[in-house]
Amino acid sequence: MADVAVVGAGIMGSATAYALAREGRDVTLYEQFEVGHTRGSSHGRSRIVRLAYPDLEFVELARESFAGWRGLEQEAGVELLELNGLLELVGDLDQGSSAALDAAGAKYELLSAEDARRRWPVGVPDGWTALFQPEGGIVRADLAHRAFVDRAVAHGAELREHTRVDALDDVDARAVVVTAGPWVQRFFPDLPVHTTRETVAYFRREGAPLPSVVQLDPVTRGHALYSLHDPVHGLKAGAHHAGARIGPDDEGGPDPALVARVAEWVARTYPDADPEPVAAETCMYTTTPDERFILERRGRVVIGSACSGHGFKFAPAVGRRLAEMAADIL
Ligand SMILES: Cc1cc2nc3c(=O)[nH]c(=O)nc-3n(C[C@H](O)[C@H](O)[C@H](O)COP(=O)(O)OP(=O)(O)OC[C@H]3O[C@@H](n4cnc5c(N)ncnc54)[C@H](O)[C@@H]3O)c2cc1C
Repeated sequence: MADVAVVGAGIMGSATAYALAREGRDVTLYEQFEVGHTRGSSHGRSRIVRLAYPDLEFVELARESFAGWRGLEQEAGVELLELNGLLELVGDLDQGSSAALDAAGAKYELLSAEDARRRWPVGVPDGWTALFQPEGGIVRADLAHRAFVDRAVAHGAELREHTRVDALDDVDARAVVVTAGPWVQRFFPDLPVHTTRETVAYFRREGAPLPSVVQLDPVTRGHALYSLHDPVHGLKAGAHHAGARIGPDDEGGPDPALVARVAEWVARTYPDADPEPVAAETCMYTTTPDERFILERRGRVVIGSACSGHGFKFAPAVGRRLAEMAADIL
């Protein structure tokens, strides 16, 4: 009997298995498909990392995660973070991250739209403010995912791909961590999450990588549109929480209307990018009402649902917490 079974080898399950195996725990990591498949939430070459959050709790969790990414880079001998900075575009400064960054003692610059446009080929809207924070950019998502899995296995974890867990009671382990992403309600129908199929598009852009950009929506006060560097095409962009509500096994491709909306924004915002999309793909969000993460214990089971479209950057810290919660069961 294993100490811990981890159900789901997306980025959260892989980070958890790594944290457990590194502590000498006997871990089995189950994945219904293969690591790196494109039906869940963790595939693709890049994800935004940033310290800048309007919420101090997330600033501190991001800071802890940066240290975790650096540790994994060292152990795996691969560069995972490309920190070209984060540009947060806000119409109303109170809506942004400046107060939380002040509380965390983190440095940042506030630039007028004109000054920001002089510094980066980014079409900041007139009258808006650009908050630049250097501890931001991208994590190489595919390399990071592979590094967590490979290091977990190097520390003794057993990876079982193409192995779907149907009943947690049948899992041969003293503790079980469920990091099933958009499939989590298959085990916990009561969990307050909903799933959407999101669409991202890729655009040709040459030259030095731009900072990652998040444009806040004056109405929803949340994220609206975002972009980040893509190591192959140059620019990746998407609309946050814009996808249709669907089940995790529902088939479907990129939403042409969303691709068009994102391409229109890219045409307005990135003068040196070709606004004709060269590729598009889908990816699943599993979203909670307040976009916070569910890290919860129920008997010998620990649930880890950390997404809402912004979880990847926190994987080192979330993985460590889920591992600690599982160890408490042993
Ligand atoms: C379009 C898009 C853009 C994003 N951009 C960012 C960003 O810029 N920055 C950021 O920080 N975050 C971002 N995110 C969020 C981030 O990617 C997710 O929060 C994260 O990948 C969630 O990982 P997960 O491991 O919980 O889920 P998943 O990757 O979905 O992993 C769950 C795994 O469990 C497996 N599984 C499910 N049920 C079973 C079972 N019964 N048996 C065995 N295996 C099972 C699944 O096959 C899957 O591999 C984005 C997400 C999307 C969709």
